[in-house]
Amino acid sequence: MVFHSAMFQQNGALSKPSQPSKPCKIDIIGAGLAGRLTKMALNWKWPTLDVKLVRSKQSDHASKTWCFHNGDLCPSTMTWLKPYISEKWDGYDVHFPKHRRKLESGYYALKSHDFFSKTDADLKESFIETPRNDADLTILTTGWPDGRPSTECGWQKFVGLDVTLQSPHGLSVPRLMDATVEQIDGYRFMYCLPWSETSLLIEDTYYAENSELNVDQIKARIVSYADAQSWVIKSIDRVETGSLPLPLSQPPLSDMTKSVTLGAASGLAHPITGYTTSILFRQIEALLSVTEPTTENFLKANRWETERLKSGFSYFYLLNRMLFRASRPEERYKVLQRFYKLSPGLIERFYSGETTGSDRARILIGRPPVPLLKALREFSIWSST
Ligand SMILES: Cc1cc2nc3c(=O)[nH]c(=O)nc-3n(C[C@H](O)[C@H](O)[C@H](O)COP(=O)(O)OP(=O)(O)OC[C@H]3O[C@@H](n4cnc5c(N)ncnc54)[C@H](O)[C@@H]3O)c2cc1C
Repeated sequence: MVFHSAMFQQNGALSKPSQPSKPCKIDIIGAGLAGRLTKMALNWKWPTLDVKLVRSKQSDHASKTWCFHNGDLCPSTMTWLKPYISEKWDGYDVHFPKHRRKLESGYYALKSHDFFSKTDADLKESFIETPRNDADLTILTTGWPDGRPSTECGWQKFVGLDVTLQSPHGLSVPRLMDATVEQIDGYRFMYCLPWSETSLLIEDTYYAENSELNVDQIKARIVSYADAQSWVIKSIDRVETGSLPLPLSQPPLSDMTKSVTLGAASGLAHPITGYTTSILFRQIEALLSVTEPTTENFLKANRWETERLKSGFSYFYLLNRMLFRASRPEERYKVLQRFYKLSPGLIERFYSGETTGSDRARILIGRPPVPLLKALREFSIWSST
């Protein structure tokens, strides 16, 4: 795992919780995934730090499964995250028409229902309804900005069903991508997470130009997929839907001079997946890396980490251009089929957003699985932005 925070490296081990030398009152606005994890992590490092979570009455607790790879974790992240992990697997499979592979790399899931009930109990005393007038620092974790994204983007959209089957499904690890299904509406794959011998999440995912989901139609496709695997569904226990924007250029970032902004609110989701966890772990670790928990140190750490992440993202916008603008929708899967032939280390670094210069070259070298002229045009648009 590569973790590049110079601050973290300078300050050394995070293994021992310490006490702040002067009090700093922090209000975290937004009690979703980012807000709660930030509160837990700050109080793990500085148990007496005064951190409150501002929870609105209309809090969004829509059902979600938050997943991430082993390579997304920074060295100390598991110390404060572990109590909230719902499932862990030691590897995962990918299936493409001309390539199948098992990767021996850890994969984790947090079920939002478990997460909210555990953290509601742990944080009982920490919730407030309105921000305090005398807080020294505001941390914004208010989720995705409302409305349409301000930059051109593609979408990762999906419908997932937690189902119970009549007999065991036979999966021992997640099937992260099964792209052998009919390619509809762009790059389409099924994503399966085994919860128990007879229960699993089956998610039908699309890398498409638009965010619209016909939920009933996609549910029917999931049922046909289950049929094709000889899985007989006894019950549908939960439904999850999402449309995550995948920008083709850097979206505007919020003003980080007066407050710290983390998670989806920061505008720094992984450009290729729309996922926020790998980025959030790094954002939180940057805060934990400061020597003294002061307003100024936290603001500085957040700005520094944002700049670092932003510079690494530029390359992913080029890949999104190749995926959404250069490749033909029905042939988009070829880009991923080729990617999954690369080394496990590169694949881990790719998902964590921490690719090296040689990883970037390696991904692009060779005969591109997209039309050359279109690829060159997108490259020229990207290099001029
Ligand atoms: C269905 C779905 C599945 C996903 N799966 C994954 C995944 O597997 N892996 C991954 O990395 N990412 C995933 N994502 C993307 C991302 O991780 C999630 O969207 C995640 O919930 C973002 O966390 P967050 O805390 O930043 O924002 P949110 O979870 O949206 O939380 C923000 C909170 O702030 C509250 N709020 C907003 N405004 C205010 C205010 N003014 N005052 C007080 N409270 C306020 C909201 O009500 C909400 O509770 C998924 C997204 C969706 C929609």
